[in-house]
Order: sequence, then structure tokens, then C-alpha cells
Amino acid sequence: MKGKSIYQIKSESELPALAQQLLEFTESNSKNNIFILNGDLGAGKTTFVKEIAKQLQCTEAVTSPTYAIVNEYITTENIHIYHFDLYRMNSLEEIEAIGFWDYLDGESYIFIEWADLVLPQLENYIRINIQTLANDIRTFTFEHIN
Ligand code: ADP
Ligand code: MG
Repeated sequence: MKGKSIYQIKSESELPALAQQLLEFTESNSKNNIFILNGDLGAGKTTFVKEIAKQLQCTEAVTSPTYAIVNEYITTENIHIYHFDLYRMNSLEEIEAIGFWDYLDGESYIFIEWADLVLPQLENYIRINIQTLANDIRTFTFEHIN
């Protein structure tokens, strides 16, 4: 079991393979199902989650009233993926008001962008750091945090 992996990609065309790498990383790290995405605005966090959903054979995102905050995908095996963007959330109370903790049922995949407000309450997750370098080159770091 390897707690940390680093990959460098040169273009968006490498994202499908990278998404597969993340799923393999997850398999070898106690099948963790919570993922925190770090990286600047435009780093490619949302794009990467969409690719993971694609690799898990998901249908189109389910639309919901809170779609700007949480996007939902469902795999062919009926597993739910909840993709949160907490950028516009101002407090933990606001996040709890959308029922945030109810989504973390242990059965679903949870991806969170701008997780700062909930991070102190989380344990056992996979942290994805995306660093942008010149000319579309990006470094992705996957790390298991206990
Ligand atoms: P974030 O969610 O981190 O703010 P997005 O996923 O919305 O970023 O991506 C911002 C832009 O960067 C998009 O236009 C997307 O096409 C581009 N992009 C995302 N990932 C990559 C990548 N791996 N290589 C090149 N361009 C990318
Ligand atoms: Mg985003």
C-alpha cells in the first residue's frame, strides 16, 4: 500500500488514464470514498471529477435544486457520486443546512472542491492536489490522509 502518488500530465487527453490511476490508488488505500480536491481556480478540479464519473460509466449529472453546490452522478452499478463545490459557502452552518453530512453515508463517492470549512471535521480521505505548470502541464498528487 502506497500512501502517496504523483503524476504529471501534458494535456486533457491524458485525463482518462489519470482517472483510472486514481481509482486504482483508491483500491489500494482502504477503498476510501471521500476525495478532497485542492488547486487554484482553473486548475482542473471539476474537469477531473467529470472524467472520473465518466470512467465509472456514469450517466449524465442528475439535476437538482442545489446543482451549483452539489452535482450528482449515478454509476451503472447504482453507486452515487456527489460532487460538491463549496466555493460560495460562507460558514459550516450554511453547509450543514444543505444536508452535507447526510451525503457522507459511506456508500457513495464524495468529491469536494473548496473543502476548507468541512476539513477539520473530516478524517480518512484522499487528498488530490493539482498544480499547474507552464503549457498545460499539470502535476496531480494523490495522498491518503488518516
Ligand atoms: P477548477 O474546477 O479547478 O476551477 P476546471 O475543471 O473548471 O477548473 O477547468 C478550468 C479550465 O481548464 C477548463 O476550461 C478546462 O478545459 C481546462 N482544463 C482542465 N483540466 C485540464 C487539463 N488537465 N489540461 C488542460 N486543460 C485543462
Ligand atoms: Mg471547479
